[in-house]
Amino acid sequence: MSTATTDIMASLHQILKSITEKREKLERGPIRVAAHQTRVDDATSKLDATREQLTAARMLVDSKQLQLKTSEAKILDLQTKLNTCSNNREYQALLEQIAADQMAESVLEDEILECMENVDSLGQNVKDATSVVEDSKQQMKAESSRVNEEEGVLKSEISQLRSDLSGTESGLPEEIKPDYLRIVKTRKDDSLASVRDEICEGCFQQVTPNMVAQLALKESVLCTSCGRLLYPSETS
Ligand SMILES: [Zn+2]
Repeated sequence: MSTATTDIMASLHQILKSITEKREKLERGPIRVAAHQTRVDDATSKLDATREQLTAARMLVDSKQLQLKTSEAKILDLQTKLNTCSNNREYQALLEQIAADQMAESVLEDEILECMENVDSLGQNVKDATSVVEDSKQQMKAESSRVNEEEGVLKSEISQLRSDLSGTESGLPEEIKPDYLRIVKTRKDDSLASVRDEICEGCFQQVTPNMVAQLALKESVLCTSCGRLLYPSETS
């Protein structure tokens, strides 16, 4: 195989590798954006759940406050009844009832304070969760525009490489071209492999001395293990 042919094949291999590398990078773009979308979705669900907790906590405060008002009215009513008591026993019973209700009221007041503190801390949680949502949305926006920019660059680089590829392909000798064109359709950068010290560098299997001899005769040689089109590496 002439040096020129070897150079052409090495160069084709390099171009094919670059195209694959850039195509893979291109494909990873939307995956990166999707990962950010997942973060936005997760943060949004967390915010929704925290908002629901806050609503429930507020409703609990409202219901306890309503309960307190009812209890206050009841105590007022009992206090009014004290004036209309007909005997001391009835009076004492009312006093005891009022004392018990006041005790319950004080417990309820403590509970309301506790519930209000819970509302405050849940309010803070909602604020925190909101800023996580906003941050993740901003990060997604930034990543999305990065990916868009990269996409433009990668697409023009790939198109340049494709034109380099067809230019280089036209220099392939006729003995090799048909095999190359057939294999490259499906195997892309896996179409070619260099041979160094009688080893196929695509699959690292030994090639036969006969194949090495064929390579030297510029023939089209396929690796019997991996099917790649072989070319001698510069140093072999
Ligand atoms: Zn091989």
